[in-house]
Amino acid sequence: MPQAKKAKSAVSAKNKSTKAPAKAAASTKKAAAPKAAGKSAASARRIYFFGGGKAEGNKDMKNTLGGKGANLAEMINIGIPVPPGFTVITDVCVEYYKNGRKMPAGLDAEVKKSIERMEKLTGKGFGSKTNPLLVSVRSGARASMPGMMDTILNLGLNDETVQVLAKSSGNERFAYDSYRRFIAMYGDVVMGLKPEAKDDIDPFEELLEKKKHAVGAKMDTDLTAQDLKELVADFKAAIKAKKGVSFPQDPYKQLAGAMEAVFLSWNNDRANTYRRLNNIPVEWGTAVNIQAMVFGNKGEKSATGVCFTRDPASGENFFYGEFLVNAQGEDVVAGTRTPNKIIELKAIFPKAYKQLEAIRQKLEKHYRDMQDIEFTIEDEELYMLQCRSGKRTGLASVRIAVEMVAEKLITKEEAISRVDAEALNQLLRPVFKPSSLAEAKKSGRNLAKGLPAGPGAATGQIVFFAEDAVAAAAKGKTVVLCRQETSPEDIDGMHASEGFFTAFGGMTSHAALVARQMGKVAIVGCDAVVFDYKARTMTVTTGSGKKVFKEGDWVSLDGFSGDLIEGRVETTPSEVIRVVIEKNLDPKNAPVYQQYNKLMTWADSVRKLKVRANADQPDQAEQAVAFGAQGIGLCRTEHMFFGEGKIGPMREMIVAENETERRAALAKLLPLQREDFAGIFKAMGGLPVTIRTLDPPLHEFLPHDEAGVKELAKSTGKTVAQINARIADLHESNPMLGHRGCRLGISYPEITEMQARAILEAAVDVSAKGIKVEPEIMIPLVGTKKELDAQASLVHQVAAEVFKAKGKKVKYMVGTMIEVPRAALTAESIAGTAEFFSFGTNDLTQTTFGLSRDDAGKVLTAYREQDIYPVDPFVSVDRDGVGALMKLAVEGGRAARPDIKLGICGEQGGDPSSIEFCHMIGLQYVSCSSFRLPIARLAAAQAALRHK
Ligand code: ADP
Ligand code: MG
Ligand code: MG
Repeated sequence: MPQAKKAKSAVSAKNKSTKAPAKAAASTKKAAAPKAAGKSAASARRIYFFGGGKAEGNKDMKNTLGGKGANLAEMINIGIPVPPGFTVITDVCVEYYKNGRKMPAGLDAEVKKSIERMEKLTGKGFGSKTNPLLVSVRSGARASMPGMMDTILNLGLNDETVQVLAKSSGNERFAYDSYRRFIAMYGDVVMGLKPEAKDDIDPFEELLEKKKHAVGAKMDTDLTAQDLKELVADFKAAIKAKKGVSFPQDPYKQLAGAMEAVFLSWNNDRANTYRRLNNIPVEWGTAVNIQAMVFGNKGEKSATGVCFTRDPASGENFFYGEFLVNAQGEDVVAGTRTPNKIIELKAIFPKAYKQLEAIRQKLEKHYRDMQDIEFTIEDEELYMLQCRSGKRTGLASVRIAVEMVAEKLITKEEAISRVDAEALNQLLRPVFKPSSLAEAKKSGRNLAKGLPAGPGAATGQIVFFAEDAVAAAAKGKTVVLCRQETSPEDIDGMHASEGFFTAFGGMTSHAALVARQMGKVAIVGCDAVVFDYKARTMTVTTGSGKKVFKEGDWVSLDGFSGDLIEGRVETTPSEVIRVVIEKNLDPKNAPVYQQYNKLMTWADSVRKLKVRANADQPDQAEQAVAFGAQGIGLCRTEHMFFGEGKIGPMREMIVAENETERRAALAKLLPLQREDFAGIFKAMGGLPVTIRTLDPPLHEFLPHDEAGVKELAKSTGKTVAQINARIADLHESNPMLGHRGCRLGISYPEITEMQARAILEAAVDVSAKGIKVEPEIMIPLVGTKKELDAQASLVHQVAAEVFKAKGKKVKYMVGTMIEVPRAALTAESIAGTAEFFSFGTNDLTQTTFGLSRDDAGKVLTAYREQDIYPVDPFVSVDRDGVGALMKLAVEGGRAARPDIKLGICGEQGGDPSSIEFCHMIGLQYVSCSSFRLPIARLAAAQAALRHK
C-alpha cells in the first residue's frame, strides 16, 4: 500500500538529514566519557599507517580502523604484499557528523604527512610531474558492508599527470583508461552526477556505451588510447554541463572531496538499509583507507580478481574465484566482461598464481576461517588489496566448520560457535535441482531480485489472494502467494502456499516473519514488481523489459538468492530431510547430512538445555523425535478438535445449554482425545509430554457462516435461532483477555475432567503395553494460586478414579503456564501447587506489553524502523521486560519448590537469542516447532559455551 512506501521514504529522508548526525553525536559523547580519563597523545591519534613491511594497526583494531583497514594492516604484518597506505579512523567520521558535517581541524596536515610517507616508500609524488602517485580512497566499516559504500580509484590524476603517466608507463591507453575510470567514479560519488530517474542508466555508462557503439568496440578493452582520451573529454564536459563546475585538478582537493564522500556514503540509502537489516548501529561510523594504487589495467600482464579460500556456496575446500586480465576495481563483479575462473590464472600468470595459492593457505591458517580476498596483478607482480571472513550460505558454514575441525584448524567448540544457528534452516528446506536452476537462468527466466527472507526453493502457480491460496491448495494445486504485502489475515493463505512473494517490506515485514516461523520460502521487498489486484495481474520490470503475469502462471522462488524465476524449476527435498524424516536416503550417501549430524552431536555434548518440541499429533511427535526432541513441551489439545469427526461433538459441547447436555457431548470427545494422546505417548516412547488443557475462547470453534449454523442446528436438534443466540452469548469484546484458559475449566469443570481423563487413561493404557509414559498436565492462563488449585484438584481427583478403575498407576505432574504478569509476580505462591512452570512467552509478551499479538503487525513495522523495539518481542524474548518477569518467576518457583521443572513453550523457544536467555536464567528446557529443533540444539550449545 502507498502507506508502506511513504514510511520508507520518510525514514530515508530522516536519515539523510537531521536524525543520524544527532544520533552519532549522542554516541560520541557516550564514547568520549570513559576515554577522557586516560586521554593522551595516543588516543587522539587519527591516522594509522601501513607499508614497507609493517603496519601501525592490526586485525584486532576493527572498531578503530574498520574491517578493511585492520586486515590490510594485519596482512602487511604477516608478510603479505600490500600497497602502502593509511587509515583515517572511524572516530573521525563520528566527529565529522558531530561537527555538522565538517572535517576536524588539523586533519589535513596529518593526511599530508601520511601522503608524504607513501611518497617516500613508493618513490612517487602526489601530483608529481615526473612520477605521479595515484591512490584509492576506500571506505571500511567495522562490520563488512560489501558494496554498500563508495570507493574511488586512480585519484591524483589530472589533465597533466595523465600525460606524465602515459609517458612514464609507456602505455597511453592505460593512463587514459585510469583517468576515465577516475572521472566517472569521482563524478558519481563526489560530484553527484548520477542517474536522475530510477530507470535512467548511469550517465557515464551511457557515454561509454555511446563511444563503444561509435567505434564498433565490443568490450571496453577494445577502446584505443584515442577513444579513451575522447571519452575523458566527454565525461568532463558532462560534469561541467550538468553540475556547472569543472572537474577538480588539484590532487589534494580531489582527496579532500573523496574522503568526505566516503563519510557521507555512511549515510546513503543503501548503507542505511543494509545497516538496518543487519543491526549495525549508525553511530559506528566508517573509516577511510587511502592506499597507493596498483594497476590491473596496465595490459595483458596485469589483472584483477576476487576469490574465496573455499567455495562460499557449498563450503567445499577448493579455491573459488574469478579474475579479469587488463581490468581494474570491480570490473569482475560488475559483469562488464565474463571473468575467468581462478584456476586459469595458473596458465597465464604462473608465478602470481603460485604466490596467491600460498597466500590462500597462509590467510586461512592465520585467520582460521574462510577468507574473501581481493587481489591485483600489475606487470605480473601480485598485490593483496583486501581480506575478510567470507560470507557463506548455511550449507557452506556447516561444511567449513566441520572440515576445519578435521583439519585441526579450529576446535569443536569453535565449530559450534561459528555456525549461525538460524542458517541451519537452509539445510532443511527443499532445494532446486541444480541442473534445472542452471537451465532456467541460462534461458533468461530470471525475472527480478528481492530480499531472500525465507531460504529454500518454491515452485507454484500464482495466486494474489490468501483465500484463493487456500482454495487452490485444497484442490491439490501448489501455489505461490504473490502480494504487495501480507498481513495477519493472510496467514492461512500463506500456510497453504509453497512460498510467498511481496513487493514491499524488508526482512522484518510480516511476510518475512511468517516465512521464518512457518519455515516457508519467501522473497520480500522486490520493487521490480507492480500489482494490479483488480485485473489480477502483476507486472515485472526485468532486464529485458516488462512482463505481465496472471493468476495461474507458474513462477519459482529461489529463497537462497532472492531470485524470482519465470516458470517451473524442479525441486528435491534436502538431504537432511531425506535421511531424518523421509528415511529414504542412506546417511552413507549423504555428505551434507553427515556434516550436519557431526555438528549436532558436538552441540548435544556441550549444551545444558534440553530441547522439546511443540507438537499436537502423533505424526508430529514422530517428526519431533527424529529431529532430536527430548520431549514435547506443548501439546495444544484444541488443535485436536479440528481433526476428522471431532469438531461436531466439540460444537455440541459448546452450544449445550446445561451440564447434562455438555457431558453428553464430552463423552463423545473422550475416546477421540484418548486415542490422540495414546498415539503421542507411543511416539515419544517415555519422553515427557506436556499437555495443555483447553485454552482458546470457545467461539473460535463455532461456525462462522449461515450454512454452518444450520448444520449445527440440525445435528443438535436445536433451532437456528437457538444456535445464533448461543453464538451471540459467547461473543466477547476482547477474547484474548476474556473467557479462555483456566477460566473455561473453572466455569465448566467437566471439560477439564474429560481432558484429564483422556490423558490419564491413555497414559495407563500405553504404559500397560510396556511403554514408559511421562504426562505433564499443564493448566493455561493461571494468574492466581486458587485458579490452579481448583484445576489441579480436579485432575488429581480424576487420576485417582482412573487409577482405581484401571488398577494401575502412572507418574504424572500438574503444572502451569506462566503467561500473565500476575503469575510471574506471584510465582512463589503458585509453585506451592505447580510442579512445573512453562513460560508461555507469546501471551506473556502480549500481556506484558499490552500489545495484541494479532494486531502487532501494524505497530511493529514503524517501531522496528524507528528502533523503538530493538527486536520484535514476539520473535525474541524482550529480556528487560518479559525476561525480568521470567527471572522473577524462576526465583519464586525455586523458592517454593527447589526441584521445580522449568521450561519455555512460546514461539521464542526456537529463537537463538531467547534460547541463550533461557540458558542464562537456568531453565531446564526450551520447546519449539520441530523444524526449529536443530537450531535450538545448536543455539543451546552456543549459549553453554558463551556462558561457561
Ligand atoms: P568494497 O568495500 O566495495 O569492497 P574496495 O574498497 O574493496 O570496495 O574497492 C573495490 C575494488 O577496488 C577492490 O576490490 C580493488 O579491486 C580496487 N582497489 C581498491 N584500492 C585499490 C588500490 N590501491 N589499487 C588497486 N585497486 C584497488
Ligand atoms: Mg565499494
Ligand atoms: Mg572490496
